[in-house]
Amino acid sequence: MSVVALINKLEATQILSKDEFIYIIDNYTDEDLTYLQEKAVVVRKWYYDNHIYIRGLIEFTNYCVNDCYYCGIRRSNTNASRYRLTKDEILECSDIGYELGFRTYVLQGGEDPYYTDDLLEDIVKSVKEAHPDCAITLSIGERSFESYKRLFDAGADRYLLRHETANDAHYRKLHPDSMSLTNRKQCLQNLKDIGYQVGSGFMVGSPYQTSADLAEDLIYLKSLQPDMVGIGPFISHADTPYKDEVSGMMNLTLLMIGLLRLMLRTALLPSTTALGTIDPQGREQGILSGANVVMPNLSPQGVRDKYLLYDNKICTGDEAAECRFCMQGRMESIGYQIVETRGDAISTIESA
Ligand code: SAH
Repeated sequence: MSVVALINKLEATQILSKDEFIYIIDNYTDEDLTYLQEKAVVVRKWYYDNHIYIRGLIEFTNYCVNDCYYCGIRRSNTNASRYRLTKDEILECSDIGYELGFRTYVLQGGEDPYYTDDLLEDIVKSVKEAHPDCAITLSIGERSFESYKRLFDAGADRYLLRHETANDAHYRKLHPDSMSLTNRKQCLQNLKDIGYQVGSGFMVGSPYQTSADLAEDLIYLKSLQPDMVGIGPFISHADTPYKDEVSGMMNLTLLMIGLLRLMLRTALLPSTTALGTIDPQGREQGILSGANVVMPNLSPQGVRDKYLLYDNKICTGDEAAECRFCMQGRMESIGYQIVETRGDAISTIESA
């Protein structure tokens, strides 16, 4: 079968076998990618028109107990200058974001035990009280079922936890022994069971990743049926064990976004900052491959250049308003329109 035939099959059946995904990944040409992008845009427009959802990203701590080999805020990176935002600082970010039209806040951070369940509960409740019409997304790693439940009951709506890689041997190459794929998948299941809108995802081009690993990522996501999938290229960070590894490729990332759009149809797919970091037109290209979400940075200017998961991260010198309106210009330049709503997934709205 040709790549085009397999893309058509994916569009019709919304799943392929592992070997079929591998065949696409190993053999696609520029023309095949263009063909996929056109199909993916048709599907995304069917459900979401030309609308782009925005999320205000508040990176509230870069302390982390984990030591992931690829990540710039890993515990062992003694060169990282660490910071934490107070509840009041987070609230201030949310107020600024509200004025700028954000109706979703993503609170992201390293795994930082300083933020106990009590403290996070208070933060979530306070943001929700200040902005009851907004959704709160948490992205703070692996926690217990009870912790996830308490934060959900406090008002958190969504949770982002990338599985990072669905292949156990590959997972072992990216993480120390203290972490496990089994636990990460269990966390994702717990989050779903509790009732969160769940996002997962993976890096494209992470060290030692094979086409078979990527195929497994797609098949795992099909079985998980998440509301959101965040993917972006791996980018090396100079203070990590993987500092000399080659960064992920733009075209392969776009291919993955397109395949995800055909496979999961209504999913919320962000065009990520990492994509914008490896190519000046990366985020626009992500949208033109089927993505429908962007996440401008709302973190206070004083800490932006400290939340560095990878090198050369863009927008670290900008103010929240600059990022918001820069993004609007970028989206309009390719015929898309930012909408100032919560931006829930279609499947979630239908089942609500
Ligand atoms: N501590 C949270 C948030 C992690 S940061 C958690 O465990 O979920 C968000 C994402 O950034 C990670 O899931 C990872 O996929 C990505 N990331 C980390 N280091 C990266 C790198 N060097 N290049 C590209 N993406 C990276």
